[in-house]
Amino acid sequence: MRLVRFIHPRSSEPTAGTIVGETVRSDAGEFPAAAVKLLPPCTPTKIICLGRNYAAHAKELGNEVPERPIFFFKPPSAVIGPDEEIVPPDSPRIDYEAELAVVIGKRCRNVEPSAALDVVLGYTCMNDVTDRAVQSWEKNWVRAKGFDTSAPLGPVIVTPDEISGPFRVMSRVNGELRQDGSTADLIFPIPEIIAEITSRITLEPGDVIATGTPPGVGPLHHGDVVEIEIEGIGILRNRVR
Ligand code: ZN
Repeated sequence: MRLVRFIHPRSSEPTAGTIVGETVRSDAGEFPAAAVKLLPPCTPTKIICLGRNYAAHAKELGNEVPERPIFFFKPPSAVIGPDEEIVPPDSPRIDYEAELAVVIGKRCRNVEPSAALDVVLGYTCMNDVTDRAVQSWEKNWVRAKGFDTSAPLGPVIVTPDEISGPFRVMSRVNGELRQDGSTADLIFPIPEIIAEITSRITLEPGDVIATGTPPGVGPLHHGDVVEIEIEGIGILRNRVR
């Protein structure tokens, strides 16, 4: 299934549904996809991200390859949906980062790696928009990676019965390919990540784990259109104000 949340023409309330071809289906009826406004496909209580989870990306920023996963949070207030504007803070360097996002399907704690995929609702695209200038001096990356609109998410969640990794993760700026990686190159694979997080933190339905970005990160400028594409999932497109 391809899960979406959307606003349809007869209601201002967010509605959950599925998308099949060009049709969005829900309890409220069926709508042409072009007639609805897609929202972020889930409403996380927290977004847990991995830093430096691709060796080639760690190297391009001059960092060591980590021995243990590096985690950081983005707040739920950072989330925007497909086609919403990224409104960056005033900074000399705002970067895109294309990432596979794992969406959690059930409340869980102490999940073994062998059972990790049982708690996965599905997969979507995330752009881990980053203030690289602030990140250079800020230890915990709250300002660098937590600002409003720094977590574009979507457009759909594809459930594991339809798709399994490895995933091809790409980004484009104004149509030009900038990143083209594969989750086959993750240093810490998804089951291990889920086990490590849930050894300490309860995950709730809709929570998001962003799995890190492949090499090729770079700056965004006012007016740029940035796309995160994951093969088999879709394209998450946002303009930079
Ligand atoms: Zn990232």
